[in-house]
Amino acid sequence: MLISNLSPDLVQSVLDALPVPVFFKDRQGAYQGCNKAFTEIMGKRSDELLGMTVFDLSPHDLAQVYFDADEALMASGGEQRYEAQIQIPSGERRDVMFYKAVLRDAQGQVTGLVGTLLDITERKALETRLADLAQHDALTGLLNRRAILAYLDGLHQDRRHVHLPVCLMMIDVDHFKAINDSHGHAVGDAVLRSVSSCLKAQLRDSDRVGRIGGEEFLVVLGSTDMQDAQRVAERLRHELSQLNVASAAGALRLTVSIGLAQSETDEEDWAAVIGRADEGLYEAKRSGRNRVVVASESTQNWPSQDWHRD
Ligand code: GH3
Ligand code: MG
Ligand code: MG
Repeated sequence: MLISNLSPDLVQSVLDALPVPVFFKDRQGAYQGCNKAFTEIMGKRSDELLGMTVFDLSPHDLAQVYFDADEALMASGGEQRYEAQIQIPSGERRDVMFYKAVLRDAQGQVTGLVGTLLDITERKALETRLADLAQHDALTGLLNRRAILAYLDGLHQDRRHVHLPVCLMMIDVDHFKAINDSHGHAVGDAVLRSVSSCLKAQLRDSDRVGRIGGEEFLVVLGSTDMQDAQRVAERLRHELSQLNVASAAGALRLTVSIGLAQSETDEEDWAAVIGRADEGLYEAKRSGRNRVVVASESTQNWPSQDWHRD
């Protein structure tokens, strides 16, 4: 049966039976009708809603989003889908996906629009949680290898416009295998967590630190020249040497070796800079550990692992 053959009451009861909110508005954006689910989600009776605009119904920041989307849709015709938020009567904001389409008269002129919305709050929260898990290391909560390398790629794009020096630091715990061997893996894990918290506490918000491997960390010092980077590296080395990690044998101490490198030009591949920091680290290990070494010309051609992300 065609909808046009149904009585208005029957059309309304069909819409009311739908478990998703439905609304329609005229060309000026005033609500002309809705179903029961929409009145419930908005906390208004349908007779109250009639003639209201989004600005009468929702907080201004949200209403402006709906208004702009409605205007764009009615100007272009067709259909529209976008993510936004709504505020429900309790004051809570929920993530929703709007689906809207224009309504036309017999001459094809746009007379308004019809829309529906789906609550996607739980799905969005899950997506955020999964993205967070995919970027962070489960043991330490630091960025994982993929995420810190992706961050460097992003920085590369930005930095072409600002030309500020960036220094990279490779930090590796000295004789970590011996800690595991003497005190057990759980104590080794506790060491890694202590090192991570100390690094997070010591670095600025604009710096980034990631766990790049077992007991190896990559620090990105934004807008920092080599002189300042060396000062930061020495401070980190000192602070980490002051940590006390609990073990059955009493408080454990540790040291780290650090390799430092500065990006030479705006166009330089990050893999090459990480490679130099890694070479500095290798030299720090070779020359006795518990020290900071800036990669020098003489260390530059040593074989190193491939630091490209993929
Ligand atoms: P160096 O001073 O030359 O860096 O020596 P090292 O013993 O620190 O280095 P090595 O590479 O020989 O050993 C690293 C050890 O780290 C070996 C590996 O089993 C351990 N490891 C890697 N990941 C983890 C982890 O998540 N937890 C623990 N407890 N140990 C780990
Ligand atoms: Mg080590
Ligand atoms: Mg190592």
